[in-house]
Amino acid sequence: MFICDCHCDTLTELYKKNADLYGNEQHFDIKRQIALGGGLQFCAIFVPTPEFRYYGGLRYTLQLLDKYLQECKKLRAAGVDVLQVRTKADAADVLNHRAATLLAIEEGGAIDGSLEALRCLYELGVRAMTLTWSNRNDIADGVNEASSGGGLTVFGRKVVAEMNKLGMLVDVSHIAPAGFWDVIEASSKPIIATHSNAKGLCPHPRNLDDKQILAINANDGLIGVTFAGQFLEEDYHNACIESVYRHIDYMLNLMGNDDHVGFGSDFDGISHPPYNINGVQDYKPLVDFLSAKYSDATIAKITHQNVLNLLQKVL
Ligand SMILES: [Zn+2]
Repeated sequence: MFICDCHCDTLTELYKKNADLYGNEQHFDIKRQIALGGGLQFCAIFVPTPEFRYYGGLRYTLQLLDKYLQECKKLRAAGVDVLQVRTKADAADVLNHRAATLLAIEEGGAIDGSLEALRCLYELGVRAMTLTWSNRNDIADGVNEASSGGGLTVFGRKVVAEMNKLGMLVDVSHIAPAGFWDVIEASSKPIIATHSNAKGLCPHPRNLDDKQILAINANDGLIGVTFAGQFLEEDYHNACIESVYRHIDYMLNLMGNDDHVGFGSDFDGISHPPYNINGVQDYKPLVDFLSAKYSDATIAKITHQNVLNLLQKVL
């Protein structure tokens, strides 16, 4: 089993608790990822708004980025085989390593309104950015602002163009619908919704409606099905492995193929995980459950191949 997972908030917890990426008490660590069979984990620097809504987002981003780089250094020093994915060649090489990470940002306020900062963060290894969290920033409106109807700002369009040029994944999870459709039109490369589910099954504002799911399919992009209980079931107490399966199956049926769905657990960022998923180790029962429903070829695509294919198209 090799799991590509497009979103977790583990870095925030490690930074706050001065804990290690290799082994910790959080939902995700490298030790359990390797024990599972290996994987590629997107590690997001989550910039909390409103705390850093108007000022300080870049400084906070660098603090978490430093934590990530220090942890990577410690893993190398300890001889743990963890690849940091930055290039197409890295993406092609992922399966030859025990584990891998990809550095991401969740909330475009991280760049403090500066394309220069965006380019510097790229140089430091950032390869994906969620344009907004659920609030408004100077790139676009998040889902909490959906009623105001705002899409991409003029600056937001420049950010998408620059990310396309650099080779960064443009992430539309959290963005309000108007902004979603602006990104579909503006992006010259396939996009990603790193952690979102199907609104047709669970009508949460953070989930994607059928038209959005079909647009990501047509765009050759990818949706990371997320384990947040509130996005899986209307009553999050009912969220379980089978709910994750139902969202995957809904998307596969709607799209009519199995090329554009993966995982985006949101480990260490979810207040209500499914009652039978408590961390990265529980990919085992989840994949066992899915293996009873799908062919080996489909399982390989959902667990890792679709994400690796997307990286080949975008990085
Ligand atoms: Zn999120």
